[in-house]
Amino acid sequence: MKEILDAINADASSDDLANIPIPESYRAAYVKRDEAGMFEGMDSWDKDPRQSVHIGEVPTPELAPDEVFVAMMASSINFNTVWTSIFEPLPTFGFLDRLARESEWGARHARDHHIIGSDGSGVVVRVGSAVRNWKPGDRVNIHCNHVDDQDPSAHDDSMLGANQRIWGFETNFGGLADLAVVKANQLMPKPTHLSWEESAVNALCASTSYRMLVSQNASRMKQGDVVLIWGATGGLGGYAVQLVLNGGGIPVGVVSSPEKAELLKQMGCEAVIDRKAAGYRFWGEDGQQDETEWRRFGKDIRNLVGEDPDIVFEHPGRQTMGASVFVAKKGGTIVTCAATSGYMIEYDNRHLWMKLKRITSSHFANYAEASAMNKLIDRGAIQPIISGTYELEQTAEAALQIHHNLHEGKLGVLCLAESEGLGITDTEKRERVGVDNIRRFANHAGG
Ligand code: NAP
Repeated sequence: MKEILDAINADASSDDLANIPIPESYRAAYVKRDEAGMFEGMDSWDKDPRQSVHIGEVPTPELAPDEVFVAMMASSINFNTVWTSIFEPLPTFGFLDRLARESEWGARHARDHHIIGSDGSGVVVRVGSAVRNWKPGDRVNIHCNHVDDQDPSAHDDSMLGANQRIWGFETNFGGLADLAVVKANQLMPKPTHLSWEESAVNALCASTSYRMLVSQNASRMKQGDVVLIWGATGGLGGYAVQLVLNGGGIPVGVVSSPEKAELLKQMGCEAVIDRKAAGYRFWGEDGQQDETEWRRFGKDIRNLVGEDPDIVFEHPGRQTMGASVFVAKKGGTIVTCAATSGYMIEYDNRHLWMKLKRITSSHFANYAEASAMNKLIDRGAIQPIISGTYELEQTAEAALQIHHNLHEGKLGVLCLAESEGLGITDTEKRERVGVDNIRRFANHAGG
């Protein structure tokens, strides 16, 4: 990869880049099929990605006609990196085996190692014969919606595609590596005012929050809506707060420490609840949920903003869903995309139907939604929420930070980029957007 990196650093022409041979192997972060049972019987919390995530050379696969090789400059850790590394709720090798049964090209994905990573920024270094809109040398951001465009079910909203997958989670050859295999329809222009790592952290979480709140496909937030946001300084929540503020809504951010509460205030979110300080006990020791605690939470929200939430932005799942359904406004929406604390959900259905609330589901974003979000970031209307940057060798350590909720916002990972802060091509725009805005989470974390 050194020759490729030198050429990128020297701003080599498209033709020159296209003529550099793609190496037969490359460095990547991966989990191993024969270790998928290593944590059996252990408590989730104790499953340590540092035991399961390996960094090493992997063989380069062949490139399909609709794909490109991207020299990965940076990537990021997502919660799906955690899920893969602790083999929960299922080892991801089952996804790869299913993809392998679909086609000859799909068969490449079933290997004894799974290269993880569902975000990234980098430079296109080779394009397949069917790729039209991209060429070697293009600086790109990658979104993780892996879609089979020969399937009619993927042609209204591609997230409804029968075999829609998340790249680097349900496919192999993900972004936590020096090279990645990406479908051409996953590419978006890299925001010019951001560094490689500032660009790389956004696409997965930002696009998910965009679909959940803004697009026509989920809760369709409007001006004046009160939006309760769980994990408001986390990966999803940090973008959700910005989208609500930009869209004329009123965010109520829930976090779990005074430091995170302070960060939210700096972002312009005035209504903040520290769930730890409040000590809510939605679930009693008897394993039942406690409506009086839901009521206390609802009162705290009303005390802050004078009304109940029009929208509840849900992802913690089992621990919070009962409360989320309860506190939503009459006729309001609970939009959910995840269940970090458990996926078997309980809520009191009377509060849902008698108050005409609805629960709507959401999952990542289609290409149009991801591109719309990328444009907002490129215009400086949404800021990256990167709080820390790791080397590729430290992928597992970074995943542990997220697993144990020790982080804020997003954690970036340097792949080929030799240090932080590289890859910025429009310094004037960067000044205009404001370095303090771009670096808010990093500065808050002391980085
Ligand atoms: P994250 O960066 O870890 O942030 C989640 C935040 O949720 C944490 O910072 C924490 O904030 C809060 N939280 C965690 N457990 C909680 C609990 N029991 N009760 C209340 N709050 C809790 O993770 P993320 O990237 O935002 O992802 C969150 C979830 O969404 C994960 O399960 C992930 O797999 C999923 N996800 C799904 C999609 C999709 O397309 N379907 C996309 C992205 C993520 P405080 O401690 O400050 O309250």
